Amino acid sequence: MSYTKDQISNRKFDVVIVGAGGSGMRASLQLARAGLNVAVLSKVFPTRSHTVAAQGGVSASLGNMSEDSWEYHFYDTVKGSDWLGDQDAIEFMCREAPKVVYDLEHMGMPFDRNPDGTIYQRPFGGHTANFGEKPVQRACAAADRTGHAMLHTLYQANVAARTTFFVEWMALDLIRNEAGDCVGVTALEMETGEVYTLQAKTVLLATGGAGRIYQSSTNAFINTGDGLGMAARAGIALQDMEFWQFHPTGVAGAGVLLTEGCRGEGAILLNSNGERFMERYAPTLKDLAPRDFVSRCMGQEILEGRGCGPNKDYIHMKLDHLGADTIHKRLPSVYEIGVNFANVDVTREPIPVVPTIHYQMGGIPTNINGQVVHTVNGEDRPVNGLYAVGECSCVSVHGANRLGTNSLLDLLVFGKAAGDHIIANNKPGTPVQDLPANATDLTLARLNRLESAQSGEYAQDVANDMRAIMQAHAGVFRSQEVMDEGVKKIAELRARVANIGLKDTSKVFNTARIEALEVENLMEAAQATIESAAARQECRGAHLVRDYEHDVTHPTCPLGRNDAEWMKHTLWHSADNSLTYKPVRMKPLTAETVPPKPRTF
Ligand SMILES: Cc1cc2nc3c(=O)[nH]c(=O)nc-3n(C[C@H](O)[C@H](O)[C@H](O)COP(=O)(O)OP(=O)(O)OC[C@H]3O[C@@H](n4cnc5c(N)ncnc54)[C@H](O)[C@@H]3O)c2cc1C
Repeated sequence: MSYTKDQISNRKFDVVIVGAGGSGMRASLQLARAGLNVAVLSKVFPTRSHTVAAQGGVSASLGNMSEDSWEYHFYDTVKGSDWLGDQDAIEFMCREAPKVVYDLEHMGMPFDRNPDGTIYQRPFGGHTANFGEKPVQRACAAADRTGHAMLHTLYQANVAARTTFFVEWMALDLIRNEAGDCVGVTALEMETGEVYTLQAKTVLLATGGAGRIYQSSTNAFINTGDGLGMAARAGIALQDMEFWQFHPTGVAGAGVLLTEGCRGEGAILLNSNGERFMERYAPTLKDLAPRDFVSRCMGQEILEGRGCGPNKDYIHMKLDHLGADTIHKRLPSVYEIGVNFANVDVTREPIPVVPTIHYQMGGIPTNINGQVVHTVNGEDRPVNGLYAVGECSCVSVHGANRLGTNSLLDLLVFGKAAGDHIIANNKPGTPVQDLPANATDLTLARLNRLESAQSGEYAQDVANDMRAIMQAHAGVFRSQEVMDEGVKKIAELRARVANIGLKDTSKVFNTARIEALEVENLMEAAQATIESAAARQECRGAHLVRDYEHDVTHPTCPLGRNDAEWMKHTLWHSADNSLTYKPVRMKPLTAETVPPKPRTF
């Protein structure tokens, strides 16, 4: 049965937030407390959003356990980003960090404590004191369940503030009027299969990452890049999508994450000779160098035949020297994951790990108020009525490589900042803008194509092929030839996505329909990634292309990074599958610019 316009009901809100992870719920809390009528949509119950899986911690230069300052944090983040992060946004985030962490503490977040009652902080990759001299303890942690504690704290605060939740609702498309303003979204209620328009003065996207474009991923199954798909279909460019973080320590074969907090607590990586090889590559930070760097070194050890196991295809992470007491107190989930996913007791023996896809540095371009921007003649202009925060957005504080614990921080800082900006610009009493006549056309066309295409392919088959292509053609080590092939294969896949069919078109909880719609979003994220990657002819952060590798002494491109030509953000446009670029913002708000230099640790 096809979907028709007259079946679609409408509801009105001040603000509609798509996504109930840490970023969406930090923003909604700000708005609900200010008395705005705010609706939060989520594909799953809010506390099942991927933020719940975050383990290691949230960064803030509290200096509870070793001397620290926001300036050190700012420097580390700029260097970690391999000079692709915007320095004004990075300064803003690092300065706000202590405030948003204390806010969370006051909401009741159950952080671990030091004997003097202050928040416990552990070391994390790339976080240093004295501008790179030594590791610092900056990651505020609740055991290895920091995201769990954070998400539950935020949910409870939202319930108290009377936020309206639409649970198991999937947003489908943005609605923009003739002037280009965003005036609402279309959404599917999963239980009934009915479609609604949710009309709003402001829409905020907080849909999380798209890690499911890869085969081996630490991400939840719901991380299908829906916000990216919605933005791309609505004519908004996606920024810096070539930069994907491989986390060094996914459980080999299973993909489940073992937090960097393990190495923060003192775990080390060993090759098949039992050598702590990171001492060779990063003499100062060793196992706590940033993730792009550690993943690359692990890959190199494996390539050179020093991987562990019968196929020499993984690395060992050793924790037993920390002692069973520390492991059970500080890393209880790591112990459980070891037993359940690797059949390894980490208090006694090393655990096999490999770099695994974890985080997207790119996303929907925004300014530091969370406003989505489009770029005209190199200048960013806000899209009226549209905001984005969290992993789906690109502000850009993480540049070409994110430091661990800076994402939970990003959710809190920019979730709150977006909330504040929306409140400041909300004129009470002004009506919600009218929906344009074609408000539901795109959504109806997508749904009805699926209803009528009963002979097409299964969504899962197409998605699996996409994941295999992305894994092979946009991995830790890239080459121009392999990426160029990937571009062709992903372009061919578009036709198959357009040919996905539904064998069963029943309405109640039809998960096949939802998966098919998700694959359309994955497609946008995958194509943005491979096109942006193949075009960037240098090495920077997580984008390591063997053809452009140089050593640190190269006069113009140390370590393969080519600042003269490539210190710029990529913008991918879905409509014509084209790329444009915009400059990196090098000027911080008040601090001095951190000038580019070769990245050694
Ligand atoms: C295993 C793991 C461990 C991590 N550990 C850390 C850590 O220790 N420290 C750190 O800083 N970072 C960590 N990260 C990264 C960090 O957790 C994520 O980047 C962050 O939590 C993302 O939050 P978010 O609010 O953007 O989105 P998410 O928490 O992913 O939430 C997305 C929300 O959007 C909803 N949604 C999506 N699409 C739709 C749609 N179409 N309609 C309606 N709703 C939709 C979902 O239902 C969900 O509610 C980790 C990530 C992983 C995967």
